[in-house]
Amino acid sequence: MRICVVSYHSSPIEPAGVGRAGGMNVFTSSLYRLLGHFCEIDIFSYGKNGLTKIAPQVNIIHLDTKDLKNFAEEIISHHARQNYDLVHTHYWLSGITGLFLKRSIKKLWVHTFHTIEIFKSIEKDPVRVEIEEEIMRCSDLIISPTQKEASAIRTLYPDTNVITIPHGVDTNKFRAHPNGSSNLLYVGRIDPIKGLEFLIDALRILKGELRLDVIGGPSKRQVSLESIKSYAKGLRVNFLGRINHDELSDHYRTAAMVIIPSYYESFGLIALEAMASARPVIGFKDTGLLETVGDKAGILVKRNEYELARAVEYLLKNKNIRHKLGANGRKNVSDYRWEDIARHYFITYENIIKN
Ligand code: UDP
Repeated sequence: MRICVVSYHSSPIEPAGVGRAGGMNVFTSSLYRLLGHFCEIDIFSYGKNGLTKIAPQVNIIHLDTKDLKNFAEEIISHHARQNYDLVHTHYWLSGITGLFLKRSIKKLWVHTFHTIEIFKSIEKDPVRVEIEEEIMRCSDLIISPTQKEASAIRTLYPDTNVITIPHGVDTNKFRAHPNGSSNLLYVGRIDPIKGLEFLIDALRILKGELRLDVIGGPSKRQVSLESIKSYAKGLRVNFLGRINHDELSDHYRTAAMVIIPSYYESFGLIALEAMASARPVIGFKDTGLLETVGDKAGILVKRNEYELARAVEYLLKNKNIRHKLGANGRKNVSDYRWEDIARHYFITYENIIKN
């Protein structure tokens, strides 16, 4: 089986945690390395690095062509030699490439959005909404990481063929450790959609000597990092910048709990990493965390800084509950092992090709 993967705006080998690179990079890099055991994979991404082999049957092919139509045409010339069985595009920009490919090579087309503009609670880009609707209409299958998102897609776009496969976590990289210090941890790019100001507000409400470590660099908007730093003035907030994914486990290990205050989180890989590290997660109910964290591996509250502060205080005071939620999280991540998730993808690809 030969798979053509398109991740136009960011290559799987770009280090996650700053600029354009985040959960999707960790996702594509983890999933396709493993899928390489079962099929041949070419991943197309914009860039100047030429070809990089990341596993025996997995190539990343960087195309130095910004224009999406030309980008698609280069993929078509690769297809003429490789004869791919299926195209899988990631994120709406790659979805535009998918629209070009569908029109010209008419191969099976699977798409994963990673974020869907119309479901974001903050301002929406109307052009992107329209393009995403076109992707829903023209693709053969949409894969969504949560039941909640898949069902919202079905309600809004009833003709879309959508299934759910959750993202995974490396349970060897992120291991359970006995509880460390009492500091709070935030991991993720600094971007307005990540809602870090809710957490700063909650810290201010709690008034104590609490320490918050913030890991991650600015997304494309450097200004949001500067403004959040000045917003946090006078509080014990350590901005540690981007940290390599391979070194993150130490930070999860020494935290008391992990807080994900995002306005919108289609899935939230951070939650799985915290759970695998046996750390409870605090976040908001109206996000993808409802299906991973639920009420067993942390506390999810209504979007409100007072509720957030109350949840933090409760877990700080109740060490046993904190440990219990952490242990539950570690137990529950056995449903999200990358090896099993990759197998699920392989079977899905096989089925769609056969049928
Ligand atoms: N991440 C990282 N280093 C950092 C900050 C984040 O490796 O300094 C990783 C983090 O471990 C997670 C991903 O980036 O795997 C962020 O994923 P998430 O889905 O939470 O956020 P998104 O990228 O979707 O906004």
